[in-house]
Amino acid sequence: MIDHERLVADVFGIRGDYTPLPGEIDENARVTGSDGRDYLLRISPPDTDVSALRFRQSVLEAVADIDVATPTVIPAVDESTWAILDDGRTAHLYSWVDGMAYSEAGRPPELAHQIGVVAGRIVNALADLPPGSAATGFLWDLSDAGRIIRERLGNINDPRRQRLIDIAVDRYDTIDLGTLPRQVVHNDLNDENILVHDGAIYGVIDFGDATETIRVAELAIACTYAMFDQDDPVGVATEVIAGYRSVAPLTNAEAGALLGLILARLATSVTVSASRGGENPHHTISEDLAWDLLARLVAGDLDAIAEEIADAGGKVRPSGSRRADLLDQRSTLGPSLSLSYQEPLTIVRGSGQYLFDDRGRRYLDCVNNVCHVGHANPVVAAAGADQSFVLNTNTRYLHPEVLRYAERILATLPDHLDRVFLVNSGSEANELAIRLVRTATGRTDIACLDHGYHGNTSTLIDVSPYKFNAPGGAGRRDWVHVLPSPDPYRVPEFDGPGGAAKYREVADDVLVDAAPAGLIIEALPGCGGQIVPPQGVPNAAYDAVRARGGLVIADEVQTGFGRTGAFWAFQRYNLEPEVVTMGKPAGNGHPLAVVATTRAIAEAFDNGMEYFNTFGGNPVSAAIGNAVLDEIERLDVVNHGTIVGGRLLQSLTRLADRHRMVGDVRGAGLYLGVELVEDRVSKHPAAALAGAVVEYAKARGVLLSIDGPFSNVIKIKPPMVFNSTDADRLVAVIEGALAASAF
Ligand code: PMP
Repeated sequence: MIDHERLVADVFGIRGDYTPLPGEIDENARVTGSDGRDYLLRISPPDTDVSALRFRQSVLEAVADIDVATPTVIPAVDESTWAILDDGRTAHLYSWVDGMAYSEAGRPPELAHQIGVVAGRIVNALADLPPGSAATGFLWDLSDAGRIIRERLGNINDPRRQRLIDIAVDRYDTIDLGTLPRQVVHNDLNDENILVHDGAIYGVIDFGDATETIRVAELAIACTYAMFDQDDPVGVATEVIAGYRSVAPLTNAEAGALLGLILARLATSVTVSASRGGENPHHTISEDLAWDLLARLVAGDLDAIAEEIADAGGKVRPSGSRRADLLDQRSTLGPSLSLSYQEPLTIVRGSGQYLFDDRGRRYLDCVNNVCHVGHANPVVAAAGADQSFVLNTNTRYLHPEVLRYAERILATLPDHLDRVFLVNSGSEANELAIRLVRTATGRTDIACLDHGYHGNTSTLIDVSPYKFNAPGGAGRRDWVHVLPSPDPYRVPEFDGPGGAAKYREVADDVLVDAAPAGLIIEALPGCGGQIVPPQGVPNAAYDAVRARGGLVIADEVQTGFGRTGAFWAFQRYNLEPEVVTMGKPAGNGHPLAVVATTRAIAEAFDNGMEYFNTFGGNPVSAAIGNAVLDEIERLDVVNHGTIVGGRLLQSLTRLADRHRMVGDVRGAGLYLGVELVEDRVSKHPAAALAGAVVEYAKARGVLLSIDGPFSNVIKIKPPMVFNSTDADRLVAVIEGALAASAF
């Protein structure tokens, strides 16, 4: 054991406190000197080559004047530049470069250009240095990355990860390394080694990996780490490249090689980490971010990304746009399905509450309620994949997984609901529900709420005013009875103590001569505009239909599985429907939907005609459904949604104090709506503003959508893993959009 404090005092003539720091090969420490200055002490292993030490010093001398702080050598008392200790190790002292690591500073993307400038300046400063290598350079030499990665591939066991590495190496292999100029570079301009101070790049540290290699490695490595955890990693890379080019040369061959080198650096990082067995916790954050970036880039359109990066590097961009090609190809799909956003997105990957486009750009998803427990939820995906390898067939056989799912669904429902049908979509569920109530009552007529939507089949379009009263719709059929939307914002009489009685009065008028088989109703109407009816009002609709002998179908396709702060939205009103339909989140994106009903109704439906559904309730769907229920429990979805949604509702409500075009803010759990109006007196819908808010948010990486009968309600229903930080970001973006809009 050395006495470090004495060492520093005796050898370098400096008194101070010694704090150990992490290091890969060298033993590092910060020395807080009694002279008021800080120093970095490095102790290299005994076998460190003297020429490597000399090389490192010549690198530091060469970069001393690059306009950002770099460590300088503090000579020993005897004027030597390092000291050899009794155990053969060498001790060096450097000036301490202050500042916060780029990673720690929150990776501000606006500093990307400066990172490029610094990389370019370092390359210029080192251009004439004779070749040499510091102690660790060989492992991180991008001109030898193919070998380094392949030798370590065996440590990656997950086939999906192996595939990412294969694709990275394939790209790398297309680079003609012989055409790339070589020189000495820093070789590790990562997010820990670039220091930020007062909103600017202040310094560069750790020249311990400096080596002679391909010159463009410097830029590729700077790009790689600057791209970590960014919403728009390719955009950040193009900024780094622009900064670099403003001070240093970049050949066409170098520009063309950049993406392959970025991928190779990521692949080197993750395979080297894997080969070390993750023994250094210091590296695991970086490892996760490297995997994430690799997955995002590989899921994207690598050719388009390569073009964009090469283009930023001044290489002439080949013509042709992939998006235009896809739009062209899409004409083979039926034209009646619209695309979201003025410039459609090509979404190729999802993870948790995020979606990623074909350039690896990350979007906070505030819209997709289907991927309830997170996009590409690994537990759900694995359950589906595992069962697919074993069996997938129809439900004419006994299967424990299917029965377990049915039991678990019933356990979430009131006791009177004790029979389940498994189907494939919300539409199938509602279609069957209508057949159930018709068969059980022997009647045909159906009541529904104005502006409601229940599915895409012929019958369901007929009970969906959202469709039949809209362009292309055939209008109301005479067997359909439309009760008013229970919207207290547009119909204030439905609010307050007399609201439910008022609603009942109007409903009785509508149904005056009717004998409906049933009512189909969402407790919190979605397409109708994210309506939160006052207490007692949905109950009045139920009562009006029941008074005429009808049954009630609670459509929980949007609102179910814990979205609205209760497991089922009808529970918020203490209702007891005879039929409940569920869909969207049931399979987290896999087609799985459910109808639950009473034994009496199910038995009435068993009238001799079999109900067969080829895919409904197959073992894969059931395995997925069970995994979704597991994840709902593990993530405590109901409570989480109540807390995060409650906070979001509060912040959005405060927006209304500052922005006069916010007419109403409403919601329950993570099911919210912001209704925009021209003014609060006329309540005239501000549909154009809603459209502008959605486009503004999209440009800032936040995805929203619009709904409601007047297309003026911003709809918020994110995957339930959406958290408070996401909520704050969403509010800030909506606020920014409202402030920026010229309305
Ligand atoms: N009911 C409601 C309330 C819905 O919102 C939807 C879909 N938007 C459906 C039923 C139909 O579901 P699917 O699209 O899965 O057929």
